[in-house]
Amino acid sequence: MSPEPADRPTSMRTSLCGRVGVDDVGARVRLCGWVARRREHGEHLAFIDLRDHTGLIQCVVDGAVEVRSEYVVSVEGVVGRRPEGTVNPKLATGEIEIHDCHIEVLSAAETPPLSVEDRVETDEAIRLRYRYLDLRRPHMQTNLRLRATVNSALRRAMERHGFCEVETPLLWSPTPEGAREFAVPSRLHRGSFYVLPQSPQLAKQLLMVGGLDRYYQIARCLRDEDPRADRTFEFTQLDLEASFVGQDDIIEVVSDAVADASEAVTGQRPGFERITWAEAMDRFGTDKPDLRFEMELVDLSKVFEGTGVRAFAAPSVKAIVLSAGGSLGRGRIDALVDRAKGLGAAGLAWFRVAAGEGGGLALESPLAAHLSDAERAGLLSFTGAKPGDLVLVVAAEHPLASTVLGNLRVHLGGQAAGEGPHRYVWVVEFPMFEGLDDAGNPIAAHHPFTMPHPDDVALLGTDPLAARSQSYDLVLNGWELGSGSVRIHRADIQRRVFDALGISSEDAEARFGFLLSAFRYGAPPHAGFAIGLDRLVAIFAGEESIREVIAFPKTQSGADPLTGAPKPLADDVLRELGIRTRAPEK
Ligand code: ASP
Repeated sequence: MSPEPADRPTSMRTSLCGRVGVDDVGARVRLCGWVARRREHGEHLAFIDLRDHTGLIQCVVDGAVEVRSEYVVSVEGVVGRRPEGTVNPKLATGEIEIHDCHIEVLSAAETPPLSVEDRVETDEAIRLRYRYLDLRRPHMQTNLRLRATVNSALRRAMERHGFCEVETPLLWSPTPEGAREFAVPSRLHRGSFYVLPQSPQLAKQLLMVGGLDRYYQIARCLRDEDPRADRTFEFTQLDLEASFVGQDDIIEVVSDAVADASEAVTGQRPGFERITWAEAMDRFGTDKPDLRFEMELVDLSKVFEGTGVRAFAAPSVKAIVLSAGGSLGRGRIDALVDRAKGLGAAGLAWFRVAAGEGGGLALESPLAAHLSDAERAGLLSFTGAKPGDLVLVVAAEHPLASTVLGNLRVHLGGQAAGEGPHRYVWVVEFPMFEGLDDAGNPIAAHHPFTMPHPDDVALLGTDPLAARSQSYDLVLNGWELGSGSVRIHRADIQRRVFDALGISSEDAEARFGFLLSAFRYGAPPHAGFAIGLDRLVAIFAGEESIREVIAFPKTQSGADPLTGAPKPLADDVLRELGIRTRAPEK
């Protein structure tokens, strides 16, 4: 069989280091790569491990050779079996080596400031400063190639579903995701600025008005928000939008594409569950439920209705059971109480469950004696707790009891997102709005173009915070992978949503006038979605930080140690842009 195109010889090499095998014994090969290691064997024999992106191969050199670590060389020699006893089973090419090597130095290298081997821990600032060296590490090679495999599987899936790839502008105007935006000064229009898009949201909606029908793009998005482990200034989304579709159509396409990507890198085609936002909050205390473990929230509000125990006199009383958690010492329990208080709860009640007299169950807790018999029995039967378990209870306003316990649940039972099975769940029927802003106006939970749930349109004017939307998130192992919604294509509904958000007609015109006017010329019903690729790839790669799957990421403080960005601009550049900078306030 002729080699795959990627493995074909070039004018400089006949093969790739990791592709040479026992079948090639006796063949003359020419390989190129970096010197990974060099070991002397007496005065006239040296072993050189040659590395390229496919792996390592051992080259045996007679006589003196002037190469050091990370020199770029070409090696010509004959493939031979390693002598008995020197086979290295840990190496894919461990049965062979290259004999009679002639080495040509293609480029010398200074001593590298970091080790290119995976096993050696290196400070992240150094890794990012010398990212080109860091990228030579096998795990970075694997991660970036895995990322490319994911992109390519997603692209193929989108094309199969009839989506057309369109590139949307980077120099754009404010978008409605609500994050802080990066501004770019205009030289030709002094004093005016472009904005780097937080997402292609408005552009893709315009594409729908433009009749593209199905659009997708692997799009770079920019948000000037504080970076952290799962968020950076620039991130990549698989962004898509389709016309004449509803929520279920989008869910089907996205599930299929993500399943393809998963299959391409893990070999497994995952299933997708679906729950409503209300159910997620109720059962898991979060809109990003981690379904890899149980420990679901139990509603004890009925048990403690009209209770005489002050600590439990609240509209919502909820519990989780930590299986075998009865052995937790007071120090650990006190830390959980502090954590609950830090999350806003007045307290956290706890009960150790023990075997009681006559085969019954007993509760051990400073609070136990204050509970009525019915409350004790109710707590045990509702939670189903067994001897040795620990029951944790929070009583608070709705939904605080749930969110506090949801946090404790993940704290106690959770594992890193990349570990264990991949459990995908669609969370649907998000609320239209989340809370109120300083002016007392509801805040759009997704963005202002999200279609309300058909049954809740009337609530927009009466009880907006109770209104559900047609928006949906895809969650994987407790991480929000992406979100989307059915969009508003009707001016009357858009007006009602703007009213609910406290956005005046003038305001709407100033911010999104170009979209609203496009909608006056025949907007098809449309819906879309965007998946954060950095997170998806990080989970596939089993990495905690998305920086491990991005070629050139910034640090946590948003700096780029490699290029030194951000840096001041020269005075003449600033002058041309019409910009005068102000020293930061002390
Ligand atoms: N533009 C949205 C976002 O970036 C996704 C969407 O609604 O399609 O979160």
